[in-house]
Amino acid sequence: MLKFIKQVGDYAKETVQAARYIGQGISVTFDHMQRRPITVQYPYEKLIPSERYRGRIHFEFDKCISCEVCVRVCPINLPVVDYEFDKATKKKNLKHYSIDFGVCIFCANCIEYCPTNCLSATEEYEISTYDRHELNYDNVALGRLPYKVTQDPMVTPLRELAYLPKGVMDPHDLPAGSQRAGMRPEEILEQMQSKEEDVKS
Ligand code: SF4
Ligand code: SF4
Repeated sequence: MLKFIKQVGDYAKETVQAARYIGQGISVTFDHMQRRPITVQYPYEKLIPSERYRGRIHFEFDKCISCEVCVRVCPINLPVVDYEFDKATKKKNLKHYSIDFGVCIFCANCIEYCPTNCLSATEEYEISTYDRHELNYDNVALGRLPYKVTQDPMVTPLRELAYLPKGVMDPHDLPAGSQRAGMRPEEILEQMQSKEEDVKS
């Protein structure tokens, strides 16, 4: 009998939970019904990629220790680490490094596991070419500083919907100079420092 009561209780709990999920789904649908389409006038206007966007990979040659961890964690063993072993110093000297973005799936495993943090994901997404072989970036191309939508004077950067303040539905409605999606690094540092000072005092 107790088992039956428990089963009924579980069933009722799951029903309430399912009803809540359906309600959430419908509320999102109604929310979208109120919105109007927003046209981004590309390439004169561009959306600012999300803060954790995984775009073209940036590589710092001087920080690489040729350990090949990035190759081992890559699902397709993609990065090419060309090094020479120096018997005198017992160290690997990096000669060339390359990643073929025509094959890369931008999973960021190499970035996550690199022990010296010499790889990083940029917000660059416009890397298309007419010849796919041009997507094979060597260490010079990988080392180029990334293009930023927010720093291009020819482009009006627009915030994505998720980054708009409450009540604003169109990024064009925001006043000029408020395009940045999140806090700037210096603002994050300031916030961290003030928190540390609060803890100490
Ligand atoms: S994991 Fe990092 S340090 Fe090691 S070879 Fe790859 S890029 Fe270089
Ligand atoms: S992002 Fe993923 S697929 Fe591309 S090189 Fe790194 S580990 Fe390999």
